[in-house]
Amino acid sequence: MNRMTAAKSIDWDAVRGDFPVFERQVNGKPLIYFDSANTGQKPRSVIETVDDFYRRHNANVSRAVHTLGSEATEAYEGARKRLARFVNVHPDELLLCSGTTFAINLVAYSWALPRLKPGDAILLTRMEHHANIVPWQLVAERTGATIKVAEIAPDGTLDLASLYAAMTPEVKLLGVAHVSNVLGTVNPVREICREARRRGIATLVDGSQALPHRPVDIAAIGCDFYAFTGHKMCGPTGTGALWARKEHLAAMPPFIGGGEMIKEVRFEGTVFNDAPHKFEAGTPNIAGHIGLGAAVDYLGALGMAQVEAREAELLAHLNEELAHIDGLRVFGTAKEKAAVISFLVEGAHAHDLATLLDLEGVAVRSGHHCAHPLMRFYGVAATCRASLAFYNTHHEIERFVAALKKVRGLLA
Ligand code: PLP
Repeated sequence: MNRMTAAKSIDWDAVRGDFPVFERQVNGKPLIYFDSANTGQKPRSVIETVDDFYRRHNANVSRAVHTLGSEATEAYEGARKRLARFVNVHPDELLLCSGTTFAINLVAYSWALPRLKPGDAILLTRMEHHANIVPWQLVAERTGATIKVAEIAPDGTLDLASLYAAMTPEVKLLGVAHVSNVLGTVNPVREICREARRRGIATLVDGSQALPHRPVDIAAIGCDFYAFTGHKMCGPTGTGALWARKEHLAAMPPFIGGGEMIKEVRFEGTVFNDAPHKFEAGTPNIAGHIGLGAAVDYLGALGMAQVEAREAELLAHLNEELAHIDGLRVFGTAKEKAAVISFLVEGAHAHDLATLLDLEGVAVRSGHHCAHPLMRFYGVAATCRASLAFYNTHHEIERFVAALKKVRGLLA
C-alpha cells in the first residue's frame, strides 16, 4: 500500500467527529483550525479520560496505599508504559515532564552544565525553536562553551554539508529538530545522529513536531536524548517526556530536588531514587499524563502511518490550491515536509492577515513562531502559518483558500 491508499482506508469524517471542538463556530462560521503546530485539538476519549480521573480516581501517585492512590499510580505508570511503547523505548528511560521546553532544560542543566568547559561547543541548526536555543545559550554562558550553527538552504532544507563540516572535535552536543515548526522540513535525524555518534558527539532531537504527525521509533533514530510535548499530539497541555539513554540517566544528577525523587533523606545527605523517578520531583501532572496515555491509544488505533499519509494528501491539496494565489510567498518547500505552510501575502502584514482570517472562522498563527534566527534568515519579522492535522478536511482547505483570497483583496 502506498501512502495515499493507506490514508483512504479510514473514515476521516468519522475521525473528525471524535473532536468536540469542531462542533463550534467562530465569528458565525464553522471553525477551521489550522494551528495544530501550536497545539493540537483533543479527541473525546482524552477529554473523558481526564474528566473520569478527577471524578473517580483522583489521588496522588506513589504515596498512598489506599485504593484511589493505587488506582492513580497504576493509571499514571500505565500511561508511561503506553507512551514508551508508542515510541519504542523502555519506560524506565522515559521521564515524564511538562513538555519539550522542560525536557531540553533538563538535559542542559543535568547533562551539559556539569560537563562542558571553555573551548567546548554546542551545535544547533538555523531552524531550531527557541526552546532548543535559549537553554544552550544559558549553559554556554555559565560554562564558557560556544554555540555553532548549521545553516539551511533557501528552500528550508538543512544543509547537511554545513552540518557535518561543523561537527568538529570541540562539539560535545548537537541539538536538532526532527521536524521544523515553521518550515515543516523533516530532517534525516537517523543519518544525522549516526554521523554525530561517529564523531563522539551526543545528540538531542526535538521531536515536538514529529510525534503528532508520523511514526517515530526513537530507538531506531540512535540519538542520546529525544524530547517531546504531549499537547501537540492530542494530549493535555503541561505533558510531555524526555527519553534519554540509560547510561546518561545513571550519570546525570537530578535537575530539581524534592519528594518522590529520593530513596532516603538525611540532613547529612540524600540517596536518590532510580530513573525515571530521580528526575520527577514533586507531584506530577497526573491527570494530564493519564490523558496523554489516552491520546497515544487514540493515535495508535488510527495508526501513525495512516496519519502521515492523510496529512501528506492534505498538504498536496493545500499546495495545489495556494499555487493559484498571486503574490503569495511560501517559506519552506523541502521535499520531505510535514503539513505546515508558512506564508506571507505581498503588501500585507502577517498579523493583519491572521486577524482577518479569524473573522472568516480560520485559525492560523502569525508571528515569529519562536524562531527568530529563522525569521532573520528569510529577512522577515513574522509570517502566517497554516498547520494541519489529520482531522482537517479537503473542504476546509478550499474554504481557507477562498478566505485568503477575500482577505488579500481587502488588504490590497
Ligand atoms: N520545539 C518545537 C519544534 C516546537 O514547535 C515547540 C512548540 O511550539 C517547542 C519546542 C516547545 O514546546 P513546549 O512549549 O510544549 O514546551
